[in-house]
Amino acid sequence: MRSWNGWGEEGDATALGGGGRRMLESRLGPGTPPREATLEEVVASVPAPRLDPLADLHLTTDAETRVRRARGQSLPDLAALRYGRLEAVPDAVARPAEASEVRSLIDHAATVGARLIPYGGGTSVVGGVTARPNKDPLITVDLGALVGVREVDERSGLVSVLAGTTGPALATLLAGHGLTVAHEPQSWELATVGGWVAARGSGLKSLGAGRIEQLFAGGTLEAPAGTLVMPPHPASAAGPDLRQLVLGSEGRLGILTEAVLRASPHPEVEGIAAWALPAWPEAVDAVRQLVQARPGLSLLRLSTPAETRTLLAFADKPAQTRVLGAYVRARRLPSDWVLVLTGVAGRRRTAKAASGEAKAILSGHGGVRLPALAGAWSRTRFRSPYLRNALWSAGYASDTLETATDWAHVPGLLASLEAAIGSALAPWGERIHVFTHLSHLYPSGSSLYVTCIFRLAPDPDETRARWRTLKTAASQTIRAGGGTISHHHGVGVDHAPYLADEKGPLGMDALRAVVRTFDPDGMMNPGVLLTDDAT
Ligand SMILES: Cc1cc2nc3c(=O)[nH]c(=O)nc-3n(C[C@H](O)[C@H](O)[C@H](O)COP(=O)(O)OP(=O)(O)OC[C@H]3O[C@@H](n4cnc5c(N)ncnc54)[C@H](O)[C@@H]3O)c2cc1C
Repeated sequence: MRSWNGWGEEGDATALGGGGRRMLESRLGPGTPPREATLEEVVASVPAPRLDPLADLHLTTDAETRVRRARGQSLPDLAALRYGRLEAVPDAVARPAEASEVRSLIDHAATVGARLIPYGGGTSVVGGVTARPNKDPLITVDLGALVGVREVDERSGLVSVLAGTTGPALATLLAGHGLTVAHEPQSWELATVGGWVAARGSGLKSLGAGRIEQLFAGGTLEAPAGTLVMPPHPASAAGPDLRQLVLGSEGRLGILTEAVLRASPHPEVEGIAAWALPAWPEAVDAVRQLVQARPGLSLLRLSTPAETRTLLAFADKPAQTRVLGAYVRARRLPSDWVLVLTGVAGRRRTAKAASGEAKAILSGHGGVRLPALAGAWSRTRFRSPYLRNALWSAGYASDTLETATDWAHVPGLLASLEAAIGSALAPWGERIHVFTHLSHLYPSGSSLYVTCIFRLAPDPDETRARWRTLKTAASQTIRAGGGTISHHHGVGVDHAPYLADEKGPLGMDALRAVVRTFDPDGMMNPGVLLTDDAT
């Protein structure tokens, strides 16, 4: 069974290794394991529901189910669950068994005056599925039973997928067709197709496959005002593209029941290579030149010196790290070398050409190919979310945030962001271990993906205040530095106060008008994307 208060399955035994622990103790001081609430304690504190169960609509008011669907995976979500301090839980959880039930559910919610929170995999890290106090009853709509592939058009490379299908389930369902949808967010194991689209995400292989907006060809959205069918035209000049409104709508417009995705043939070859580059500024130039050469890589990623050191410490393989250090020194790289990862996926011939182009540009900047690291990274790339549970139990909070900007602003924004975050907890006399990588690169710019680790406070309210302070410092710095408030995590509740600054007054009016058209009575996902007072 899925963990009720963290990532992955219940009973997962991922532990913080000695290397990571030593690094954090030396940078932040020892962590103090917090007292964690039990599921029984939290369930016992759930208030009586303001709705009746309804078997026809798979609507339950069972207290444990409501707790299990009350939160996502943001740091405030994790803190609320671990400390046992949920401000609210949904009054009921619906688990529609087929798409037509979603329509009936919306109509039922309108009749009883309830608000609806669409819940795919519940992996939102921005409060997108968080139940919050509301004067009206809340129904969380768990889409986890809407799983399957309804149609495969092999000739067009189009697959119609039910919205609750996860990445692994989709991969299994398509395997027999020789097709793949190469959208692999780090949350791949649990996130769903509907959530990919609604949160406008980006997968690890986005350089080759594209972001979800390139993969989303059409689908069906059930909205309070009606049904929107989006045909999967390969391209269209029939006015503004309504698919772009649904991408990133975060449950505000309605519930996506089915998505038509663009699939590609299974790659003939697939591989990742690791490189060490001598210094940060030169490495930024190297990856910029590489992405601008458009060589056809599937993945490109550059870690700062701090992140490179942290990855090695957390890998907890001291013998291999020593061998690696000797190897890099023998090739005359400085001690603050940085890690670059390149990936290829596709036809053998094109993959070979892409690898050759990467080699020419990276070695031209003094890069050295690292033999072992790439395999280790590939094997563990979906494991790091599990580490967050282990960090919490060891007394540390870990959060990530991300943005994107053009190349001219990448160095400045990165420096100001790390500085703002690094000093955010000074009022408490605490430090933050902060490290960054360029995660998704484009010819015109890059995303910045920042990880922050800090100590839990003895008082739960103070831990929350520490997070709020660092988040505010980071968000304000991102906006002041010209970055977008989110490159791929979405807006949710946490970024909603910063959206108006990015979109401008006319843009916000347009968004509000669209939301009102699809959802005239404001039933859908209150407080997400647009702050409540903005609707
Ligand atoms: C450890 C970790 C790693 C992550 N890595 C990545 C990454 O690499 N790339 C990335 O893009 N994101 C990443 N995320 C963020 C998150 O996983 C993505 O936003 C994901 O696409 C959300 O999918 P989900 O099914 O879990 O959606 P949920 O979390 O359930 O929902 C997200 C939002 O979409 C709405 N929604 C969900 N389903 C529907 C639907 N069918 N119709 C309408 N609205 C819906 C919800 O109401 C909510 O507002 C990560 C999160 C975690 C915890």
